[in-house]
Amino acid sequence: MNPLRWWRQRRLAQVELCGRTFAEGFERLPGLAALDPAGRERLADYTRQFLLDKAFAGAHGLEVDLPMRTRIAQLACWPVLGLGYGELGGWHEVIVYPGAFRARRERHEDDDSGVVTEWEEELAGESWDAGPLVLSWEDLETDLAQPDDVMNVVVHEIAHKLDARHGGVADGGPPLPRGMDPGEWERVFKAAYDDLCAIVDVDETRAPIDPYAATAPEEFFAVSSEYHFLAPELLADAYPDVARLLARFYSGG
Ligand SMILES: [Zn+2]
Repeated sequence: MNPLRWWRQRRLAQVELCGRTFAEGFERLPGLAALDPAGRERLADYTRQFLLDKAFAGAHGLEVDLPMRTRIAQLACWPVLGLGYGELGGWHEVIVYPGAFRARRERHEDDDSGVVTEWEEELAGESWDAGPLVLSWEDLETDLAQPDDVMNVVVHEIAHKLDARHGGVADGGPPLPRGMDPGEWERVFKAAYDDLCAIVDVDETRAPIDPYAATAPEEFFAVSSEYHFLAPELLADAYPDVARLLARFYSGG
C-alpha cells in the first residue's frame, strides 16, 4: 500500500461515527437492509470518508451533532455505493437548515370532489456541481417517518449532484458509467418524462410517480432515483425502462 493510502486508511479508521444512528439506517430503510455484509462494510467505509471530507454547517443556529452528521453521511453515500466514492468529489460543504423547505405534497380528501393534491415548489438544495449540499433536517426527519411518500431529500440532492458532474448544472443526463448508451438513456427518459407530463397536464392525481417529477427533466431524474432506492417496485410498474437503466446506472454500469 502506498504511504498516502496507508495514511488515509489510518485516519479513516479513527473517524468517529454514531454507531446507533448508522445501525438505525438499516432498520428504517428496506433498501439499506437488503445490502449484503460487504455492501454494509463499504457503506460504513464511505460514511467515514464523507465525515472526514465534508464540512457540516448548521444554518440558523442549528447544531449538527454526530448522529445528524452520521445520518446524512450514510444516506449521501448510499447512491454511490456502486459508482464509487469518487463520485461525491468536487464539493466540500453540507449546509443543514433546521426547518422544512421542501414543502410536501399534501393529499387530502375533499368532501365532494375526491382527492385534492397540492404541493409547492421545491426550495431546498439548489444543487450546482461545486456548490454545497443544502438540506433541511426537518424534511429528512419527515421523509424517514413517512416512507409511503417515497421521498428522501438526501438521495434527491445527491442525484442532482451526480447529474451535474459533467461540469454544468443538473439536466437529467448524468455522465454514465462505461458501457451505458447515452442515446438510449435520452430516449427512455424523454419518453417517460413526456408521458408523465401528459398525465399531469390532465389530472395530476393519476400520476404513477410523484408529479413533482414532471416539473423538469432533472427533477424526473432525481425523483425517479428516490423511487429506485425507496420503492423500486413502484418505479418498475410505472416506467420499467427507466427502472432498468437506473438499476444499471447506480450499480456502476
Ligand atoms: Zn430537485
